Amino acid sequence: MPQNPPPLSGPVLDTCAESWGRTVEALGSRLGGAEIDGWLGGCSLLSLAGGVATLSAPTRLHADRLKTLYEPLICEALPASRIEIEIRPVAMAPPPTEAPPLAPEPVVAAARPPLVDKGEDPLLLNPDYTFENFVVGPCNRFAHAAARGVADRPAAAFNPLFLYGSVGLGKTHLVQAVAHELARSKAPSRILYLSCEQFVNHFIAALQQGDLNAFRNRYRHVDVLIVDDIQVLANKTRTQEEFFHTFNTLHNARKQIVLSCDAPPEDIPSLQDRLISRFQWGLVAEVEPPCFETRVAILHAKAERMGLSIPEDVAHLVAEVVEDNVRELEGSLTRVQAMAALTGRPITVDLAREILGPRLHAKAKIIRIEDVVDAVCRRFEVRLAELQSRRRTHSIVFPRQIAMWLIRRLTSFSLEEIGSFFGGRDHSTVVYALGKISSRRRVDGEFNLLLEDLERDSRAVSGSRG
Ligand code: ADP
Ligand code: MG
Repeated sequence: MPQNPPPLSGPVLDTCAESWGRTVEALGSRLGGAEIDGWLGGCSLLSLAGGVATLSAPTRLHADRLKTLYEPLICEALPASRIEIEIRPVAMAPPPTEAPPLAPEPVVAAARPPLVDKGEDPLLLNPDYTFENFVVGPCNRFAHAAARGVADRPAAAFNPLFLYGSVGLGKTHLVQAVAHELARSKAPSRILYLSCEQFVNHFIAALQQGDLNAFRNRYRHVDVLIVDDIQVLANKTRTQEEFFHTFNTLHNARKQIVLSCDAPPEDIPSLQDRLISRFQWGLVAEVEPPCFETRVAILHAKAERMGLSIPEDVAHLVAEVVEDNVRELEGSLTRVQAMAALTGRPITVDLAREILGPRLHAKAKIIRIEDVVDAVCRRFEVRLAELQSRRRTHSIVFPRQIAMWLIRRLTSFSLEEIGSFFGGRDHSTVVYALGKISSRRRVDGEFNLLLEDLERDSRAVSGSRG
């Protein structure tokens, strides 16, 4: 007699939905509503078996976010020992409707709008600013994934995409990469990339010539509008007004908008509140200064494109000295290369030291290995001799690894030198320690604060040394 299949799906699904509901609630009390709506709202629990929770997430970006930031919390709440994520796109949620109804817009010429597209010159892109040439690291992983998401699914993933960060960190590179990618794709689309300054100038000219229709025609009939350095709108009331309507028209028509800025929306001086809130509608992502490893990777990538091979120790030295601006990082490499070419000398650490001279001295004077160790020993109440000993208890290993990481970050000692300072350890032990600290730092905000504290302490010790 055939047996009835067990009624699996109903109860199991119910249980999953319930468990997920409870999890989201538990996380909500710790993370706040916006995080929950933005990142967990579109996710669900598919199964929970053998300690593994399988979740669905609408995009790769959601998946990455869940994995890197929320895994411990989710595991604790469910409970589970780890999570796995399947990407299952869902229909896009309608945009928030807090905006008041729009004033009727001036009628734009009904004729077919000009095609601002791939071949035409408004798309003046730097051919190097592609995704292929962009080095991804912890500092920009989120912004990069967001940009990729937009390039893959314009107007469906995040709208607008708002990238911000300080100068020389790759914002223009990323937003142009989106333009490149879309321009390459088969689907015909009108892409307009420009700096905000061009927008402002064009608008002023249109006002002066009484030709607003043509202006609006151009900006409001594109599929993708990318505006670089939107902070230029600061204090420009009339252009803000115009941009507001451009934004609304495109957003309502489900056209993609991508903006870059040197600050988050709320920090742009005298930006209208309604623009601030619109800029926050989609996804706001920060591009942070690159960490040491990313700086090294960028140098190698850039060298490769220049047809140059730079020794590892030179890359390390440059990356140690030039810390928070990728443009300057590239500039230093170019200077090293030029010096080598002009003098016929090979690219060595000595040559790099000459080029980096002033910066190197300024930095070397600041912090010594002892300053860091002093700060760490005080904080953890351990002695230097213990850090240098073979002891491997957690209470010693942990401060030892932190000290290694800080020394690597704050001084120009090599991996070998650091290893030998700590009781003649191998350089691979140092590499392991750096990796441990770096990965914890990425997911643990409190730990990060501890490291920042220790960095400050180290500087203070070095300062008091006189
Ligand atoms: P921003 O617009 O943030 O001021 P840019 O996009 O102009 O910075 O970047 C400055 C330079 O650094 C450019 O040459 C860019 O290609 C390079 N750059 C920045 N970040 C990266 C990265 N992650 N990988 C490769 N090159 C980068
Ligand atoms: Mg820029």
